[in-house]
Amino acid sequence: MDLSYSAADLAFRDKVRAFLAANLPPDLQKKVRNHVRLTRNDYVRWHQIAARQGWSAPGWPVEYGGPGWTPTQRHIWEEECGRAGTPQILPFGVNMVAPVLMAFGSAAQKAHYLPRILNCDDWWCQGYSEPGAGSDLASLKTRAVRVGDVYIVNGQKTWTTLAQHADMMFCLVRTNPDVRKQEGISFLLIDMTSPGITVRPIITLDEEHEVNEVFFENVRVPAHNLVGQENKGWTYAKYLLGHERTGIAGVGRSKRELAFLKKLAMEHTRHGKPLLHDPVFASKVANVEIELMALETTVLRVITRPAHAPGPEASLLKIRGTEVQQWLTELMIDVLGPDMLPFDPAYLEGDSEHAVTGDDTGAALGANYLNMRKTSIYGGSNEIQKNIIAQMILGL
Ligand SMILES: Cc1cc2nc3c(=O)[nH]c(=O)nc-3n(C[C@H](O)[C@H](O)[C@H](O)COP(=O)(O)OP(=O)(O)OC[C@H]3O[C@@H](n4cnc5c(N)ncnc54)[C@H](O)[C@@H]3O)c2cc1C
Repeated sequence: MDLSYSAADLAFRDKVRAFLAANLPPDLQKKVRNHVRLTRNDYVRWHQIAARQGWSAPGWPVEYGGPGWTPTQRHIWEEECGRAGTPQILPFGVNMVAPVLMAFGSAAQKAHYLPRILNCDDWWCQGYSEPGAGSDLASLKTRAVRVGDVYIVNGQKTWTTLAQHADMMFCLVRTNPDVRKQEGISFLLIDMTSPGITVRPIITLDEEHEVNEVFFENVRVPAHNLVGQENKGWTYAKYLLGHERTGIAGVGRSKRELAFLKKLAMEHTRHGKPLLHDPVFASKVANVEIELMALETTVLRVITRPAHAPGPEASLLKIRGTEVQQWLTELMIDVLGPDMLPFDPAYLEGDSEHAVTGDDTGAALGANYLNMRKTSIYGGSNEIQKNIIAQMILGL
């Protein structure tokens, strides 16, 4: 198999690089590169810059406003965005609910929501997990009862990423408690300004407000916000999770972080020499680099397969992609040593210059290390991905 880029792909890469050089605002790039937290406005701003170019939804078909790229072109776009340090185009709208609407939504739902997702007019959040339903998602209890033209929703979701900013939630609810648990679930679109919804922050290890609990008390949801058929939501939920896991390898971003790590290890000395010249430390960096190169090759093998569809190999990319991301943050902490301990929330929120020791490069790395622990849990924990590989690939 030839895994090198064709001349056309290389020309496309140059076009993407030129676009990013001309359009990525330097203040956003600086925040991303220095691991400073992004605001709602930062995410929306970048999403809308990409949308004006027609590039905010790389995986969408042309008929819905996608650019009609090949899988390799999509990979190049992701890689170049990661390399340049763009804010992420958040997956909840573009990569998660949108494919479900395209496949199972009504004509009215597609016409209303898809253009708004393309341009980030609505901020979406994902209402799947509950206090008693994470890996065992099908045991979810949030109840929706149909009364005339509305569903009345009661219950609780948890770990809902950035729900504090959300206009809309796609939500799994139980509409029939009397059948096998996978068979009584429906997929609802819920307006987050509806009376009866309460969003409460969960503050994580790094003192960040990124996830939330969301409570529903007699929330009235119009019945036309049901996607597909009642009680068939589990099928749609699984379809969505396949899409969620495909972009998760994060090769472009990890390449940027590897370059950052090397720069950091050149700037910090031990026994009068840059740490990167220490043979023990250098071999640790080389190991991660080799794993990252192998991951990239695997991603290219997966995306260039004919008739590619998200399958169990997405689990493999998720595990190794998140391991590489975490190893990189661990090595950054090794470089900084005690300098990683000071914690400056005002700097992390972008409100001030930092007051901690060292320069910009180190100021956010302690919090970043803690934050990145999440990657092996969300999107289906890595242990669950290993179960999928054992069953679907190894046939155990
Ligand atoms: C930062 C963050 C953001 C998130 N964002 C969202 C969001 O926006 N929307 C949303 O709906 N959810 C979100 N989640 C929830 C996430 O999907 C769940 O945390 C995840 O599915 C694990 O579920 P759980 O936390 O209930 O853990 P559990 O399912 O209780 O698992 C606990 C531990 O047991 C292991 N385990 C469980 N079952 C098995 C098994 N069968 N075999 C082997 N090991 C097993 C798990 O791997 C884990 O280590 C987010 C989570 C995090 C951490």
